[in-house]
Amino acid sequence: NKAFGAETHFITPQEIKEIAPEVDLTGGGVWPVLGASYHPQAATARHDRVNWALAEGANRRGVHIHQRTAVTGLLMEKGRVVGVETDQGAISADIVLSAVGGHVTGLAAMAGLRLPIRTHPLQAYVTNHYARSFDPIIASASLLFYVSQTARGEMLIGAELDRQPSYSYRSGHNLIQTCSQRAMTLLPFLRKLRILRQWTGVCDMSPDYSPIMGKTGIDGFYITTGWGTWGFKAIPVGGEQMAQLIATGKTPDLIRPFALSRFVNDRTKADRGSAGTH
Ligand SMILES: Cc1cc2nc3c(=O)[nH]c(=O)nc-3n(C[C@H](O)[C@H](O)[C@H](O)COP(=O)(O)OP(=O)(O)OC[C@H]3O[C@@H](n4cnc5c(N)ncnc54)[C@H](O)[C@@H]3O)c2cc1C
Repeated sequence: NKAFGAETHFITPQEIKEIAPEVDLTGGGVWPVLGASYHPQAATARHDRVNWALAEGANRRGVHIHQRTAVTGLLMEKGRVVGVETDQGAISADIVLSAVGGHVTGLAAMAGLRLPIRTHPLQAYVTNHYARSFDPIIASASLLFYVSQTARGEMLIGAELDRQPSYSYRSGHNLIQTCSQRAMTLLPFLRKLRILRQWTGVCDMSPDYSPIMGKTGIDGFYITTGWGTWGFKAIPVGGEQMAQLIATGKTPDLIRPFALSRFVNDRTKADRGSAGTH
């Protein structure tokens, strides 16, 4: 993929070995590695630190964040959303933007809106400390797993969504078993490590694997959803665009193709390949 100047190129098994000597190019004798797509600038970011930084930046600019406050209903007047009901009381607002990740269908239903979103759990886990430093991020779109090393030296491993739609945050042994087996096939050193922690989040999947952003057809109610398994890297620009929409009332050109109405107008996006491990 070279879109928008992305530097991604194909590399040979020999080049893979130079970048990541730990990779077993025979794939355990079952899945031989014939090549790879290489993105030299790829990097990881600490999601918790990024979240705190975004919250702090918003606070400094005068945004009031109500922590531990759940939206329990939408305030409606003559078909228009005019605020939210929360477990701490009502809050009125000219515009309500739903940005609740995998919980969006329940929230939109409060406004009588049915969305083409399915919520699926996504799991990940980390091992104990790996003594060597492991720079590359390895992902296999065929075997469906990704591996990288955290700042603490743990190996972070994840895979595809749970197939069964659910709002459950329960982690399961099944994922550990199947994903570890696939990851160890390419990276045999993982066999010597122990799994320390596993966790689950819920992802809002749209039919075309692209986000849904903008107005909903219900006055005063906007959404940003469908970020699925790759919202962390895309949310900052998505957030800016939504802020612009709220401030001006006009949908910015960048997000116009991601309108909810595309599912009615047969203008879905061909973006299934955007994330490697669906
Ligand atoms: C295991 C895992 C690994 C992932 N890895 C990556 C990755 O490598 N790269 C990447 O780009 N993305 C990744 N993602 C996806 C990414 O986390 C999401 O796409 C992103 O967090 C979506 O952002 P959001 O702001 O839309 O929703 P969220 O981050 O889910 O935030 C929604 C917020 O709304 C709150 N909320 C929900 N309901 C209510 C309510 N009724 N009232 C008030 N608040 C409510 C929730 O508590 C939550 O804080 C991963 C997800 C998981 C689960």
